[in-house]
Amino acid sequence: MSPAQEAEQILHLAGIESAGKLVSYSPIDGKSIGRVTTGDPDRACARAHEAFRVWRTVPAPRRGEFVRLLGERLREAKPVLTKLITLESGKIIQESLGEVQEMIDICDFAVGLSRQLYGLTIASERPNHRMMEQWHPLGPVLVISAFNFPVAVWAWNAALAIVCGNSVIWKPSEKTPLCAEAVMVIVRRVAEKFGDAPDGLVQLVQGERDVGEALVDDPRIALVSATGSTAMGKAVGPRVSQRFGRVLLELGGNNATIVCPSADLELAARAILFSAAGTAGQRCTTLRRLIVHESIADELVTRLKTLFASVKVGDPRQPDTLVGPLIDQAAFEAMAGVLGDHEVERVEAGSGGFYVRPAIVEVPAQEGSVLRETFAPIVYVLRYSDFPDAIALNNAVPQGLSSSIFTNDLREAELFLSAAGSDCGIANVNIGPSGAEIGGAFGGEKETGGGRESGSDSWKAYMRRQTNTVNYGSDLPLAQGIRFDVAP
Ligand code: NAD
Repeated sequence: MSPAQEAEQILHLAGIESAGKLVSYSPIDGKSIGRVTTGDPDRACARAHEAFRVWRTVPAPRRGEFVRLLGERLREAKPVLTKLITLESGKIIQESLGEVQEMIDICDFAVGLSRQLYGLTIASERPNHRMMEQWHPLGPVLVISAFNFPVAVWAWNAALAIVCGNSVIWKPSEKTPLCAEAVMVIVRRVAEKFGDAPDGLVQLVQGERDVGEALVDDPRIALVSATGSTAMGKAVGPRVSQRFGRVLLELGGNNATIVCPSADLELAARAILFSAAGTAGQRCTTLRRLIVHESIADELVTRLKTLFASVKVGDPRQPDTLVGPLIDQAAFEAMAGVLGDHEVERVEAGSGGFYVRPAIVEVPAQEGSVLRETFAPIVYVLRYSDFPDAIALNNAVPQGLSSSIFTNDLREAELFLSAAGSDCGIANVNIGPSGAEIGGAFGGEKETGGGRESGSDSWKAYMRRQTNTVNYGSDLPLAQGIRFDVAP
């Protein structure tokens, strides 16, 4: 069946009408698979503002019930949503299943969190005084998402934002609008079952960059959580800061793995293959730089070249395919542009799509395109002789998302994780840089934007902190012992 026919069946089943001026193309064959209507940012912001005023007073555990129902519905919808993700983003089925599972996992996490939005009690320096810190809902949250995680990134943000008492507006990638429509069908069913959620609690606003910009500039949006390229973040960050809004940026990565002489090379090779070639090199955490000790470099590179040559590139709907298509022609051109003399190996897999074999390129120095994120499966190999140089190479790029080391030497592993080690938001030992769990805080430093979302205490970004001091005595002692008495 063609992607268009499969998509038509899914849209029909979900009751989604394919109409409007924004066209969705499947990277599998490059043909249109549906259309959506672009949204009205002003109206969405007004509705989100009204919804927030109601939702913020709903007890947090009750808000958690909304997210619990969402997780339940996502479990039921997993097979269908998986298919649509594959059709629209080109991910292989296994990875699309993983993406929906990630949505379910964050819902479970957020339900628990809805009873744990803890504040602090703080020792006051004044007699008969109590200090405390509370976390209150923040306001409408705008989620801007990228094509490569068309639904999971929304869920990471929305599940937390909802239990934290906020309304949510979603501006998905213009390249994956149908996945967003399908999620909204699920959200509407959840809202019906929940019963009294305010209208406009969760809204979808489809559109391109101009729609994103209008939403970003709206003062009713309290937090803009934007996932995408560093270029997008550079545009969005200052606009939000200009109006003193809060911003959470999850931008591009240029992730490295260091392979040390003591490493288990079999383990390393498998992890490198997944990290470099998975999602056709289109993950923010994709491995782009391999920093290998010179004593094992030839052996590892030979092993990797064999693995890269044997990996099946093709239709992502086939169960044995490991590498699906690039998102579009522009992605192919970007890859071809940086590879230059080392030509892109194009794989024939039906007409229309851009299928490429992952590339390994040995480079003498970390410069030029090695310093940039090319959103395609290219891994650059750099050799090192002294361990401190390997760490220096890991850190000597503008981005700071993910990193990893393969070693059986405790000192190397610990130094890599120490304050003098990797400067990234994520640093792993004996696994690749890609494929995070939702329990940890996700995000990176430098040009990756500094934001953290998903697990740990990332929820605090979606709430406002309030410090309270209560005087239960009959005197009025001032802080720092200041005396301010009126003469009798
Ligand atoms: P993109 O920057 O082209 O688009 C991302 C989203 O931003 C889209 O919804 C787009 O419409 C919107 N947008 C673009 N410019 C905007 C503007 N000026 N104002 C408001 N909205 C704007 O990114 P993409 O090609 O969809 O995704 C790939 C990029 O995303 C890669 O750089 C990848 O590393 C990054 N990414 C980062 C993370 C992370 O968590 N760090 C996760 C996924 C993807």
